[in-house]
Amino acid sequence: MSENLVENYRAVREKIDETCKACGRDPKEVTLIAVSKLKPLEDIETLIKADVNDFGENRPQELKKKFDEVSVPVRFHQIGHLQTNKVKYIINKTVLIHSVDSYKLAQVIEKEAAKRDLFPDVLIEVNYAGEESKYGVSKEEAADLIKEISSNFRHIHIKGLMTIAPNVDDPEKNREIFRGMHELLLDIKSQNIDNVDMSILSMGMTNDYTVAIEEGATMVRIGTAIFGERTEQI
Ligand SMILES: *Cc1c(COP(=O)(O)O)cnc(C)c1O
Repeated sequence: MSENLVENYRAVREKIDETCKACGRDPKEVTLIAVSKLKPLEDIETLIKADVNDFGENRPQELKKKFDEVSVPVRFHQIGHLQTNKVKYIINKTVLIHSVDSYKLAQVIEKEAAKRDLFPDVLIEVNYAGEESKYGVSKEEAADLIKEISSNFRHIHIKGLMTIAPNVDDPEKNREIFRGMHELLLDIKSQNIDNVDMSILSMGMTNDYTVAIEEGATMVRIGTAIFGERTEQI
C-alpha cells in the first residue's frame, strides 16, 4: 500500500508535467498539494520519505494534530471551510489558508495574526458556479471583499483565489468555470490593489485537474488519486 501511495503521487505529478508541456506552461508553475484529510499520519510519513512537502487538510483540528505529530516539518494547507472559532488552532501551523470566504473570517484571522505577530498568506474562496451547497463569495463580490480586507487588515496577505468546481462526470464541463476564475484573477491583478498579489490560483481536484491546469491553475489539490477513496464523504 505505501508503495502505491508514492507511485500514485508520482503518476499524478507526471500527468501534471505532461499537461503543462502540452499547453506550453512550465511545470514548475504548478504545485501539487496531496490532500491527506481523513487519512492517517503514516500515509503522510510515507510520502515525506519520497520528498513530498505540501499536504492539504480541511479540518482544523486534524491539521493541528498532524502538525504536532509529524516527524519533520512539512507545509500544511488549510483547504476547507474555516469557522471563525477554529482560526486559533491553525493560524501558526498552515502555510496558506485557501478558504477565506467572508469579511468576518478575515477579521478573526487578522486578530489572531496580530496577537502572534504573524503575516498569514490567504486565498479568497470563490463559489464561481453559485452552488448553494458550497462556501465562497460570488464572482461579483470577490474584488470588493479583497479591497475591504486589504485596506483594513495589515497582517493578512492575499495571494490569489481558490475554487471548488462542481462535481461532474466530465471534467470538460468545468472548463468555463476554470477559465472564468483565471479571468477573474487577472482582472483583480490588473487593479493593482495595495498589499494584494494575485499569483496563486488554487483549483482542480482528482476528477478535473488537467482541465484546471490548461486553464491556468497554479495549485491543484489532489486526494483520491493519491490516497484512494475516503471512507467518509466530505
Ligand atoms: C477533499 C478536497 C480535495 C481533494 O478532492 P479529491 O477529489 O479527493 O482529489 C480538494 N479540495 C478540497 C477543498 C477538498 O475538500
